[in-house]
Amino acid sequence: MLPYYKRLYKKRANMGLVWYNKNNPEDSYEFKSMVLEDVYNFMDGGVCYMHMNFKAMNVTTRSEELFFAELALNNSVFDANGGYSTTACSIVDDSCAEDGLPEERYDENNCYACAEKIKHPTGTTYKGGHYAEDYCVGCDSD
Ligand SMILES: [Zn+2]
Repeated sequence: MLPYYKRLYKKRANMGLVWYNKNNPEDSYEFKSMVLEDVYNFMDGGVCYMHMNFKAMNVTTRSEELFFAELALNNSVFDANGGYSTTACSIVDDSCAEDGLPEERYDENNCYACAEKIKHPTGTTYKGGHYAEDYCVGCDSD
């Protein structure tokens, strides 16, 4: 475990939660935990995306949920968030995306960039990874 990445990904997860809490004002979650392997960076259409899973706790009910967040590197890398902004964040259940090859090259329901261990919500809620092709992974600029 590298403390630097741990801090960094916790920061990214919290960006996702800020986005989630803003879009779901009736819920309020705080970051709980994550594992470093549950983060995936890849290029799609010239944009660097990060898909990640982490756990957060509902501050009212104290129940823990698994979250998915997508961040895109589309700002200056010198800004406060390293150039990242949140493009999606939602609670996911423990089921995997459906298997099988897509019929079209563009599949809005699934992500083809991440390894299977990343749990994704409904594909239409996030932007990156929908083309059924090889992605350049590990492009994190931090
Ligand atoms: Zn993904």
